[in-house]
Amino acid sequence: MQKNRRLFLQTAAATAVGSALTACGGGGDASPLVASSNAADSASTSALASADARVRTSTTSTPKSRVIVIGGGMGGATVAKYLRLWGDAISVTLIERMPTYTSCIMSSLVLTGQRSMSSLYFNYDTLRSKYGITTVFGDVVAIDPVAVKVTLADGTVLGADRIVMSPGIEFDAVPGLGTSDRMPHAWKAGPQTSLLASQLSAMPRGGVAILTIPKTPYRCPPGPYERACLVADWLKSRKPGSKLIVLDANPDIVTEKDNFTSAFLGVHGDVIEYVTNAEVTQADPGTMTLTTTAGNFRGDVINLIPRQRAGSLVTTAGLNNATEGRFAGVNVLSYASTVAGAGKVHIIGDASATTQPKAGHIANQEAKVCADAVSRILAGGSPDPAPVTNSACYSTITMSKASWLTAVFQYDPASATMKGVAAASGASTGWNGDNFDEMGKWFGYLMKDTFA
Ligand SMILES: Cc1cc2nc3c(=O)[nH]c(=O)nc-3n(C[C@H](O)[C@H](O)[C@H](O)COP(=O)(O)OP(=O)(O)OC[C@H]3O[C@@H](n4cnc5c(N)ncnc54)[C@H](O)[C@@H]3O)c2cc1C
Repeated sequence: MQKNRRLFLQTAAATAVGSALTACGGGGDASPLVASSNAADSASTSALASADARVRTSTTSTPKSRVIVIGGGMGGATVAKYLRLWGDAISVTLIERMPTYTSCIMSSLVLTGQRSMSSLYFNYDTLRSKYGITTVFGDVVAIDPVAVKVTLADGTVLGADRIVMSPGIEFDAVPGLGTSDRMPHAWKAGPQTSLLASQLSAMPRGGVAILTIPKTPYRCPPGPYERACLVADWLKSRKPGSKLIVLDANPDIVTEKDNFTSAFLGVHGDVIEYVTNAEVTQADPGTMTLTTTAGNFRGDVINLIPRQRAGSLVTTAGLNNATEGRFAGVNVLSYASTVAGAGKVHIIGDASATTQPKAGHIANQEAKVCADAVSRILAGGSPDPAPVTNSACYSTITMSKASWLTAVFQYDPASATMKGVAAASGASTGWNGDNFDEMGKWFGYLMKDTFA
């Protein structure tokens, strides 16, 4: 079984490396990336097939190890599934606030009316029925990392051998904003996404929309830039004469710089005004004005994306020991916390501080490395000493064309970090309609690998 897991991880990584190399050499055709997703998907499918046999209830009376997973998003759902997929030695309880997960990935397309909210919904039925995961819908309010216990809001206390957390992110409070919903972030998909869509729809022709980009590190590095491009394209046809001001708290575009620079100055040059070093210091929802380090700006619609930190549970549990106390420091061989005495708590996804981007695809990859490591540890072994992860990302540059970006990371023992493999990472030169179509397929594969 150990061998199968290792093979699966290696196959997925090697496929991604191979396809990324092809993509780098071959220019803007994203089909090799899809081949990667396809191959990864078929790897998962074969893993799924063998898992069907493997996750049948054990006939022996050996007590199972117990793992509690907190958060059923991109990282949490994947780690719960793969902990069960790779053997019947572990019982898994997944604790999640909401009975339905709403994907942030693809959610900017709701703003332009190209996707419905319901197309972003995923439930936990298959994780329960196919993999035997126990689900508990509730809010975890406390963790005891030493006793390995969690407390839910209703007072229930659950214990385990290990805890894996993937609680995502929280936002810094913006001075002046209070509880007003006039400047939604729409950076956790849900009601705020629908709200921003309706505000954009009600915006007058010739109006001004504002989108703010927080300081790094934040969830989905290309996300705000791709949303800016998408909204700018939509404004051209739906709100002619309108402007989109992009206020970036960073000194420059933080990722995929060539494509976004070219889009901001070229195809969207008549709509987008891009301002750097513009950190929001105050919001006034009454006058719809933002005070920033680059001046004051007034908008008819304001998509205010605040600075981010790990989900609040990380801080409550005292596991926020990295990135100036914003995120959780982890050992990337197992994603165990680096806080003394908290080594039985593992943190994956956006809440952890690693050299990898805060992205759903990476959360899915970290989950597999973590599931493998936890399975080995609970069986008396050690984590794989040489994990490899990969990330693929498509960015909408217009309402029908996309670019892509891919990265491979390999464990570097000298720095004890995941290091980018330059020769296996790359970005498309420009954007096209084929990439846009492939983006939909990639999303389908990723969500299937996570929730089905
Ligand atoms: C607009 C947008 C576009 C994006 N596009 C892409 C993309 O194209 N590609 C990509 O790879 N990534 C993309 N991302 C990023 C991706 O959505 C995140 O990186 C990913 O969801 C992180 O996974 P996670 O498991 O860390 O957190 P999440 O997926 O947010 O899951 C966290 C879960 O934990 C639960 N939770 C939190 N605290 C508790 C608690 N105390 N008790 C119980 N449950 C709790 C929450 O309810 C939630 O379901 C995008 C993000 C945005 C906002």
